[in-house]
Amino acid sequence: MKTLGITALVPPEIVFACGFKPFDLNNIVPTSTTRPKNKLCAWTAIWREQIMNGELDLDSLVVVAGGDCHNALVDGQRAAEKIPAFYLFYPFDGNKEYLKSQFERLSLFLGGITDPGIMKTVKSVKENLMKLDQLRSQGVISSELGFQYLISGCDLQGDPTAFKEELSRIPRERGGDLASMHRVALIGVPPIHHDFHREAERLGLHIVFDEMPFEFIRHTGKNINELAESYADYTFARDLKYRFDFLKEELGKRRIDAIIHCTQFACHHVLEDGMLREHLQCPTLTVHSDLPGPVPEQLKLRIEAFSELLWRK
Ligand code: SF4
Repeated sequence: MKTLGITALVPPEIVFACGFKPFDLNNIVPTSTTRPKNKLCAWTAIWREQIMNGELDLDSLVVVAGGDCHNALVDGQRAAEKIPAFYLFYPFDGNKEYLKSQFERLSLFLGGITDPGIMKTVKSVKENLMKLDQLRSQGVISSELGFQYLISGCDLQGDPTAFKEELSRIPRERGGDLASMHRVALIGVPPIHHDFHREAERLGLHIVFDEMPFEFIRHTGKNINELAESYADYTFARDLKYRFDFLKEELGKRRIDAIIHCTQFACHHVLEDGMLREHLQCPTLTVHSDLPGPVPEQLKLRIEAFSELLWRK
């Protein structure tokens, strides 16, 4: 099976149906030791560097060019010097017909749909991920264990059937200690520190919502029409008020005590911090990261101080 590198949310339903396995390039970054010389955001620079150096075994690339990230668009064009690339644009206004035409073009780039039935399989895996997300919110599984699988909602680890089996084996072990922690929503880009969820939990914060992984798993469909209908609602591609209104409702359902807003050096999402605080009106810690690796000591102290502040409230 050929491997398709993806830079952000690209419907795995279409990728598998065209006979490719998706590989989310971002998932190599938090544990990577690559240090690119020429970089703005470490996420895009690291996968660009690895593609340029021939370190990743990819056949093609899809760069999410509209509705995501301009750093990815530029680093993606650099990487496209090495492998065939397609540029996917999500509509800012949620236009479903436009998105359908984008998905049809993506299918053509991948050689056409050869196994439409697999979309149903992917949909059922995502339904299981939605259940997992709820179990984590209920405190039945830890933030870290849940995140580890939810973040794979973008590529299903390249094999929907094996991934579904793995999901069925996740132990439901936790209980009391998670229930007594602060309930926290992680908004923005996923943390670039691979142990972030573990450290947050150790410091008394149970992350019950990860914005980006939730976007990965809540969109699905059994054919191009259904996919366009669903993915048109991808909040990262829409205007900020649309996204914040969605978040307000979702955070309300999950009885959130606080927010951690994860931002990244040289990322435009940093600019959203003030508006996010105004709209969501919730105690918020803004984290600004750069290079991957474990959570730095200074950040651990800030998370600990935030947790203590929440107890005082
Ligand atoms: S952190 Fe920001 S700049 Fe970096 S890849 Fe994500 S959206 Fe792009």
